[in-house]
Amino acid sequence: MSEADGKRDEERERRSRGWIAAITMVLATVLLLAEFAPGASRVLKYSEFRARLREGRVASVIIGERTIRGSFKTAPGVTPARRPTADFEVVRVPDPQLVPQLEERGVTFEGMAENRGLPTLLMTLTLVLGALLLGRWVLQRMQGPAGGVLAFGKSRGRVAGEKDVTVRFDDVAGVDEAKRELQEVVEFLKDAERFKRVGARIPRGVLLVGPPGTGKTLLAKAVAGEAGVPFISLSGSEFVEMFVGVGAARVRDLFEGAQAQAPCIVFIDELDALGRSRGGAMLGSNEEREQTLNQLLVEMDGFATNNGVIVLAATNRPEILDAALLRPGRFDRQVLVDRPDRSGRLAILRVHARKVSLAPDVDLESIAADTPGYAGADLANLVNEAALLAARRGASAATKADLAEAVERVAAGLERRSRVLTPDERRRVAFHELGHAVVAEVLGGPSRVTKVSIVPRGFGALGYTMKRPEEDRHLLTEGELRAQLASLLGGRVAESIFLGDLSTGAASDLSQATELARAMVVEYGMSPRIGAVSLGRGRSVGEYGLPAELSGPRELGVGLADAVDAEIASVLRQAEESARGVLGPRKHAVESIATTLLAREHLDGPELRAMLVDAMTREAESP
Ligand code: ADP
Repeated sequence: MSEADGKRDEERERRSRGWIAAITMVLATVLLLAEFAPGASRVLKYSEFRARLREGRVASVIIGERTIRGSFKTAPGVTPARRPTADFEVVRVPDPQLVPQLEERGVTFEGMAENRGLPTLLMTLTLVLGALLLGRWVLQRMQGPAGGVLAFGKSRGRVAGEKDVTVRFDDVAGVDEAKRELQEVVEFLKDAERFKRVGARIPRGVLLVGPPGTGKTLLAKAVAGEAGVPFISLSGSEFVEMFVGVGAARVRDLFEGAQAQAPCIVFIDELDALGRSRGGAMLGSNEEREQTLNQLLVEMDGFATNNGVIVLAATNRPEILDAALLRPGRFDRQVLVDRPDRSGRLAILRVHARKVSLAPDVDLESIAADTPGYAGADLANLVNEAALLAARRGASAATKADLAEAVERVAAGLERRSRVLTPDERRRVAFHELGHAVVAEVLGGPSRVTKVSIVPRGFGALGYTMKRPEEDRHLLTEGELRAQLASLLGGRVAESIFLGDLSTGAASDLSQATELARAMVVEYGMSPRIGAVSLGRGRSVGEYGLPAELSGPRELGVGLADAVDAEIASVLRQAEESARGVLGPRKHAVESIATTLLAREHLDGPELRAMLVDAMTREAESP
């Protein structure tokens, strides 16, 4: 809040400075124009002036050092009015004849010291001043808030840092795993000596990966708060400037500033804005970004491990980051900050409910149940929205109805961003994931299921099944590969069994399965029709993802290529059949597990196995 106020003040001040500059300019210009403007008088050539003089039309002149101003005689009968401006003006030339001529023609004349010097000087000075002010103001505008284009020496990050961060781990909920991982960083910052004594290497950089609004910034702040160290934050996009070299200078400043305040946390939001992999030719500021990125790498390598500066960075697109950033000694640790599941959402709602007054009828648990797919920021927004509704009504506390309305409002916004699944979609995702998991469990592939979840993951997946090998494996048998294939296709098969049709959700499963099946046929010699021959020759892959031999002009006849394709299709068909063979007879079991999964949003491996056994025995007992 105070930060926003500060920004607003700055903005106001900047704007008024702009006005002052503009007004000064206009004033000076007007004055100068008035001074130099010929006014009512005409500028005559000296010869013209002499001609008029000879004609006897000149009434009076004022002779200055450089100019002569004068008035003509008026028509006879008209009294010459005392006019403020002269009729004409000439630039004086050395002319010894002038005075005698004037006398001869009876022209009144007087001399005058030029008085233009001082005012002109003053006005010129004002103009220059105005121009300077205006120029400065324009530059500041170009730079955006605080510092910028020309402020090479100033990093835009508040290098001063936030000294007393009040955020604690308690303020961040639903991301327990991430907190556990970051606890280590806190301990290091608190007591670096302990780690140094053992010679332990603490990560210099930790990458927080997760969709927007899941609390990455909040977590980073909480680390600083818990450790009681300054928090210096900057956004990756702020580094990337239009001038090559500025971003790099800024990175240098940032780390210099951080060093001075160590131990401290440097937080770089939107790391992807500057850490995008190099070489992907894009228009524009590529070079600038590369330089900035290089500087960041240099700084991260440069500072000694134990100097107490820890860089936390956030991104929601880790896949586009330059690989160099993820090497050891840089952001070699990644912490997943994902959207919360139901219990996580409840915890987050509780955190934010502390800040508002809620009526006793409010049931946060049911709100947590109604908000699958919401991130922490959405939930914070929801609670705030409910409080606003209550305040607008003039009530002293937000009621259940306020919260229900807030859920709807927030959901409308989220749906536009297509983050929240419809109930039908959730059901489909649940069956799809269970299809993978149950087939894998029953057929006993090389890995066991550790978690099934229908909380959408940031990166495209709407749900996921995690598996882990039980032990380090160096070889896989044909049976295991076939089980793995069946499990890959299990999602699709489950959709067709339980929902009657297929969806687009299985596309990546299919491509993975096809790849695996192809490897079985052309590399591992696991298809009886093609037999024990390696057509893939290692992993070399030619055009269109085909094994080099198939795409290149080789002795492989068209007939063999067709046979390979047919074999791949047949391996996949068999896998699909065996998935069907697993899921078909377990229809009731899968349905009852799906109900639990939909309610709980995730199941871990042991839970899934227990439920499977349980449901199967019940089924066997019932007639
Ligand atoms: P990110 O950096 O991941 O985009 P932020 O940390 O900026 O998200 O989150 C924005 C706001 O949403 C936070 O200030 C906080 O109020 C709320 N919020 C997000 N995640 C959580 C969480 N896990 N626990 C509590 N509040 C959260």
